[in-house]
Amino acid sequence: MNDINAADSPFQVIVLGVGDAFSARYSPTSLLLRAEGDTLAIDCPDMYRAVLRRASRAGDLSLDVADVDRVLITHLHGDHVGGLEGLAFYKRFVENKRLALYCPPEVRRDIWTRRLAVAMDTLYDGERYREMSFEDYFDCTVLDWDAEHTVGAFTLALRRTVHHIPTAALFVRAAGRALGYSCDTAFDRELVDWLARADLVIHETNFGAAHTPYEKLAALPAELRERMRLVHYSDLFDLDASVIEPAREGDCLTV
Ligand SMILES: [Zn+2]
Repeated sequence: MNDINAADSPFQVIVLGVGDAFSARYSPTSLLLRAEGDTLAIDCPDMYRAVLRRASRAGDLSLDVADVDRVLITHLHGDHVGGLEGLAFYKRFVENKRLALYCPPEVRRDIWTRRLAVAMDTLYDGERYREMSFEDYFDCTVLDWDAEHTVGAFTLALRRTVHHIPTAALFVRAAGRALGYSCDTAFDRELVDWLARADLVIHETNFGAAHTPYEKLAALPAELRERMRLVHYSDLFDLDASVIEPAREGDCLTV
């Protein structure tokens, strides 16, 4: 993977957002994977349509929610899942279909009862109130931790990270290439080694015990750092001083 040349690549990562939950500058970290005509969204932050619009402007793309029919939710922090309610409502009311959802078992256990149901379990049709179920909105596939999963053109493996709540790092193969994505995690050298088998590694960095200090990543071997891009950085992160290239909104990374 060198410079970005999406048109030549059969496996692309479109960077929708690079920020953290507190950012005033960046959209929350989220990605779109594309390969062989298939698209898989990784996480779904709040104001998702606006996130797609911002990334489109930055990257000279034309993305909208009609392009997103499959979403993988890595964990249930709001900056990763806050837009799912709106996206699922859009699919139902505007596109008259269900959203294909992929998630680890713990996310499936809690996403409806503890996150979405309060806002989505009842709909008013002008005359009466109707009780709605998770399945009315979502066609969900649980991604077990210890298996490989095929989602369209993508083959996925998950690994649990060191984070406040159950969170999945991803190893994704498509078109003969591989992407490693840390998602939210404390620095975990074993996770880095797991990700480092990939052609492109996207790693988070941020403050706090449950995130990865930049200095830990900056100390990794140069060969790995060259294949790495940073996301989930704070507004205070010095992009120009970083020895690892930060991903930017609208980037189309060639895996
Ligand atoms: Zn998180």
